[in-house]
Amino acid sequence: MEAHGLLIDYEWCSGCHTCETACQMEHGMPKEQFGIKISEVGPWEYAPEKWQYAYVPIPTDQCDLCAARTAEGKLPTCVHHCQAKCMTYGSVSELAKKLAEKPKQALFCPTSGKE
Ligand code: SF4
Ligand code: SF4
Repeated sequence: MEAHGLLIDYEWCSGCHTCETACQMEHGMPKEQFGIKISEVGPWEYAPEKWQYAYVPIPTDQCDLCAARTAEGKLPTCVHHCQAKCMTYGSVSELAKKLAEKPKQALFCPTSGKE
């Protein structure tokens, strides 16, 4: 099976943490462990009126890409619950095409080599 992953358009991530919580609940994780974790980058002003400020959700080693859900044809729960619709699940080759279409995206393949 081709490796799958998550494409995250962090230009539109609001930093709401819903994906973190949905993932913890789906997998019964304790509150100090995460399958995905929001990284806050900034804010700082690097040039007049130009600010670096972004939230970037990063899957951890505990992300299994919601294998039980996707086996039933469902989306990973983080993708399902993201109200900003800034997360996409798919094959790495499909996601790589989307990655080339716009900046401020990150492609993660947490289970690469395990499938
Ligand atoms: S649920 Fe979506 S908008 Fe909210 S933090 Fe996660 S990726 Fe960002
Ligand atoms: S794909 Fe599933 S396991 Fe991975 S971060 Fe999203 S909710 Fe968690």
